Amino acid sequence: MATPAKSVTDRRVFDAVGAFLTKHRLDPSPGNYLLAYRAIVSADEPLAREIEDVTRDGVRLSQDDADRLFVKFGLQRPQPDDHDRAYAEETALVEEARSQIERFARVVQATREGNAAYGRELNHTADRLSRMTGAESIEGLLRLTTAMIDRARLAEERLEQAVGEAETLRRKLASATEEAHSDALTGLANRRAFQERHALLSESKVPMCLALCDVDRFKTINDTHGHAVGDRVLKAVGRILTDACGKHLVARYGGEEFAILFSGVQMRNAVAMVETAQAELAARHFKVRNTDVAIGVLTFSAGMVEAASGESGDSLIQRADALLYRAKQSGRDRIEVQGEGSGAIANDA
Ligand code: GH3
Ligand code: MG
Ligand code: MG
Repeated sequence: MATPAKSVTDRRVFDAVGAFLTKHRLDPSPGNYLLAYRAIVSADEPLAREIEDVTRDGVRLSQDDADRLFVKFGLQRPQPDDHDRAYAEETALVEEARSQIERFARVVQATREGNAAYGRELNHTADRLSRMTGAESIEGLLRLTTAMIDRARLAEERLEQAVGEAETLRRKLASATEEAHSDALTGLANRRAFQERHALLSESKVPMCLALCDVDRFKTINDTHGHAVGDRVLKAVGRILTDACGKHLVARYGGEEFAILFSGVQMRNAVAMVETAQAELAARHFKVRNTDVAIGVLTFSAGMVEAASGESGDSLIQRADALLYRAKQSGRDRIEVQGEGSGAIANDA
């Protein structure tokens, strides 16, 4: 079939976006337009799949759903305030490091110059001293020694100050690096940390498995009990996964999505750890603090894949995400493992 001319294609997309917005009775705002556009031009991507999921059986996509998906799929740029603040903090730190290095260089240079001048002066004085006699020479020697001590003390003070400043800066840099690699809510590794660890392991040719876990029907918890309760649940899920997966890297990859990067273990062992986490979560009886209202049993679904040699982190995540999607489609509370086709591990009785 011939490819339609670009303007025709564009027109079709435009019409499809219009039809989408009308069908869901969404305002033709830039945000809604962008969401619809993305879902239409990338019809096989997670965003489109999720819209399909939410709107199954003729359910309309609400403005709340649209807003949530907009944020979830990264259609929203960082809020200017947050972005500006992060940028300003980073710039200030870089500026501080730069001036600290310059200060260090100046201290070293001044000490070196002082020592050279002092060496010349020492030679000169030693020369003069050799021509002096008695009390005169002792007085000269005393002056020389005093000057030597003063100079050494000054150099020591300057160095001590520079070392102190460098240590403060080192601590600030370490905590900035830590912050940049961890998730503020759960304290787990974040997406960046996950990517860096994957790149490192990949370079060292360490065999890896990935589990992408997503809490089932998590939105209901927020909707029923509020966002703060949802937050506490996320922290608890993070802890359960960390406890079950030992030394392996558990990262919060997205809202209620966790990625576990297993290194140097076989898939069946990795699966066993994720199953342990599933069982642990199922055994918990979460309650709302203060009111004691039961939240009910929580479950998660997972997609698990083995990394191919040299495979990128994005590709690994995508493959796991496809299996996770299958786990959701097959009823949730189950693990879909690469290569196991219909043999997914379901938890339902
Ligand atoms: P599914 O079983 O298909 O995964 O359903 P779900 O409800 O878990 O998935 P959905 O993607 O519809 O909803 C995820 C919700 O997670 C929506 C979003 O508001 C919520 N969420 C994302 N990040 C956070 C967070 O940091 N705290 C809280 N409390 N909620 C969050
Ligand atoms: Mg999710
Ligand atoms: Mg979910």
